[in-house]
Amino acid sequence: MKKLVVGILAHVDAGKTTLSEALLYRGGALRRLGRVDHRDAFLDTDEMERERGITIFSKQAVLPLGDTEVTLLDTPGHVDFSAEAERTLRVLDCAILVISGTDGVQAHTRTLWRLLERYGVPVLLFINKMDLAGADRPALMAELRRLDGGCVDFSAPPEAWAEEAAVCDEAVLERYLETGTVTDGDVAALLRRRKLFPCFFGSALKVEGVDDFLDALTRYAPVPDYPAAFGARVFKVSRDGQGARLTHLKVTGGTLRVKAVLTEDGEKADQLRIYSGAKCKTVEEAAAGTVVAVTGLSHTRPGDGLGFEESWGGPLLEPVLNYRVELTDGTDPQTALARLRQLEEEDPQLHVVWNELTREIHIQLMGEVQMEILRRRLRERFHMEVSFGAGAICYRETIAKPVEGIGHFEPLRHYAEVHLLLEPAPRGSGLTFAADCPTDALDLNWQRLILTHLAEKPHLGVLTGSPITDMKITLIAGRAHIKHTEGGDFRQATYRAVRQGLMQAESVLLEPWYDFRLDLPAEQVGRAMSDLQRMNGEANPPETFGEETVLTGCAPVSALRGYAAEVTVYTRGRGRLLCTPAGYRPCAEQAAVVEAVGYDPERDVDNTPDSVFCGHGAGYTVKWNEVPAHAHVDSGLRLNAPPEEEAPPPPSRRSDSYAGTLQQDKELQAIFERTYGPVKQRTFVQPKAPKRPVSADSEVDKRAIREQFRGETYLLVDGYNIIFAWDELKAIAKDSLDAARKTLCDLLCDYQGYQKCHVIAVFDAYKVKGGLGSVEKYHNIHVVYTKEAETADAYIEKATYEIGQKHHVKVATSDGPEQLIILGHGALRLSASNFHEEMTHVRGQIADVLFHNNQKGKSGAMRAAMEKARSKEDKPC
Ligand code: GDP
Ligand code: MG
Repeated sequence: MKKLVVGILAHVDAGKTTLSEALLYRGGALRRLGRVDHRDAFLDTDEMERERGITIFSKQAVLPLGDTEVTLLDTPGHVDFSAEAERTLRVLDCAILVISGTDGVQAHTRTLWRLLERYGVPVLLFINKMDLAGADRPALMAELRRLDGGCVDFSAPPEAWAEEAAVCDEAVLERYLETGTVTDGDVAALLRRRKLFPCFFGSALKVEGVDDFLDALTRYAPVPDYPAAFGARVFKVSRDGQGARLTHLKVTGGTLRVKAVLTEDGEKADQLRIYSGAKCKTVEEAAAGTVVAVTGLSHTRPGDGLGFEESWGGPLLEPVLNYRVELTDGTDPQTALARLRQLEEEDPQLHVVWNELTREIHIQLMGEVQMEILRRRLRERFHMEVSFGAGAICYRETIAKPVEGIGHFEPLRHYAEVHLLLEPAPRGSGLTFAADCPTDALDLNWQRLILTHLAEKPHLGVLTGSPITDMKITLIAGRAHIKHTEGGDFRQATYRAVRQGLMQAESVLLEPWYDFRLDLPAEQVGRAMSDLQRMNGEANPPETFGEETVLTGCAPVSALRGYAAEVTVYTRGRGRLLCTPAGYRPCAEQAAVVEAVGYDPERDVDNTPDSVFCGHGAGYTVKWNEVPAHAHVDSGLRLNAPPEEEAPPPPSRRSDSYAGTLQQDKELQAIFERTYGPVKQRTFVQPKAPKRPVSADSEVDKRAIREQFRGETYLLVDGYNIIFAWDELKAIAKDSLDAARKTLCDLLCDYQGYQKCHVIAVFDAYKVKGGLGSVEKYHNIHVVYTKEAETADAYIEKATYEIGQKHHVKVATSDGPEQLIILGHGALRLSASNFHEEMTHVRGQIADVLFHNNQKGKSGAMRAAMEKARSKEDKPC
């Protein structure tokens, strides 16, 4: 029999469990149809799940379908449990993504889509609840195509979708044009390569559309070929009713037999169980493609690889909040810790941490639902009562530049020395380990041991004591003693080497971000946008659905975590905020956070950066900064030494961002260079560092800039001129010119967002001594500071001439003489008062347009707004 592992994923309440139930029933594996609402669903086996009606632990069911045996895995859909859903993704041959026909694509659906993409899982979509009023098929299909262009409506006969499916691939299209058909094989191949995502509509509850869906699954699902050598992936660890430890894995090669030795320490598979719902049967062997629960293994962890499979680095979605566990029933902390550790083993996401200093247990959780589940599990399993303190942000740390870390451990009759190269790695890549060290210098066995020690625990950064991430750590040198080196010595030397390296490195604090979706009444969009800007968040243009407006984007967890309550207040309960973790980015408030945490790495005795050397028959401690001078081996690396001729560091962040953006934008660079002469990075004025590094996330900036300069209309704004012409800004300028400047730039960002022209704000710096001019990217606009002795209008005049040769140029200013010159270059003039009117008009119009064009959705509405505004302003005044 062919074997297929199929996962069912969805936003909570979309109907995953109900659909699984319907598939099992129609497929003949269930005689009676259970129902989530009647608490007898086949897959909701846990008492707690039946009570709450949500699936918490991923469950499986076996469904024979023709010549294929399908294992259905029901994954938890609640955002709080995404980590478990994610581990399951690694064992899927294909996925069924269930979408609620009344809710459509949700923020969480997008998160799941990103994960499915990341793990290359083929996807079939089932759009459920079509029996309910409000499920609009064409609108849903449009939404799905926005999610991915490969989504094609398969619920009609093949003639209706063949062409749409064929255009997903050139070769298939060619065959289609010749033969007029798309074969099952073509569809299967496109599905496997994730070029095509067949979409089906129906109602799981009424068992409509379920047979067609099963039929499609049999026809198109990609059944993999497996190698002959044994391999397996562990995706879950749990305990059965009797407390026996179960390792859930998928065999990905060869055959797994009872009594096979599975781990390096010689542990064997006692029993192989195949679960289906709450029932299970034991088998003697499991062929490749089978999902089995193995007993007898005591150290496996989700993510482990067995046989030829490599272990896996870790989940993408990590909990971002950390809570103190309060033992309300007086259980002593050590007992509570042991119990929590047992639960942690089943879900490594819990991250139980014991703080010796404060004698407190801390725990990391995805959110409040998980918190409640944990409380219940502790009560039911251990009769223990706990509550949780306020959540704190889980930071991470990384480094900015490569550094060598050295650890030496040599108390009397012990010996180990380790040299590591620590290098920054791309954001989101986690930690990777490698060895690049000759085996004649250090035996391969020791090298392997060092790599194991690197991987066996989270290493803590030296800024706040948060775990390090996004680094590559390479073993580059080391030494063992032929007689004195013992097992634990390399552990000590390795841990110390990591910390010694970090002490010398330039550390970077990373904070978690959320992807958000904010549903709110159209009239509150302005308020939300300005809130998000204040949070340093990023928002996409608003979309409208009926009376509701939806804002999506991302922002730091620190700013968003309390925002749901704020939304409820200012929308009087009509707004709703949904957040999903979106990885880590450099923390804008690094200095403040580091100070508030008050971590002293040299006093963290469990994670010391110092080394132990031996002299006169006894070990003595050498401080971390003196370790290189004492080390016994030389790695040959010369990273930490200052270069022969030390290049002065770039003077400021702004010149960095300036260089970054200009390099990406040849056109503006050319204009700038023609105006100022060749650009030299180091020669720019040293401005105050912006609150948030402008190019903190260069991917985002790159995209923004590319888009920005494809268009045609440029708006040059004479900054101070406008500030002193607009009453509101003038009032601000009286107190702080800086604040006025920032307010104007913020207004221009808004303006840019709705008008889509390219905005350059120009500020005089002619009185700034030694000022050599600069250009910086501020969100979606550019801000130019002119050089010493050059006025803004002189710059604008030159730039107008340069830009005007290829593009439309508008200039906002009220200066008399300047207007004449500009008009002479063919630019359009916008007086300060006209510009003010237009700004009010555009900003006021937003709500207006969103409200009236609600049916057409965002693009139509936005286009109409822009066209309306443009046709008006293009008439010269
Ligand atoms: P899950 O959280 O994704 O597993 O969703 P469930 O299967 O638990 O279903 C959530 C709720 O939606 C339950 O009350 C179901 O009865 C209901 N439901 C599921 N499918 C349908 C459907 O096709 N039509 C309607 N009207 N309700 C459905
Ligand atoms: Mg469910």
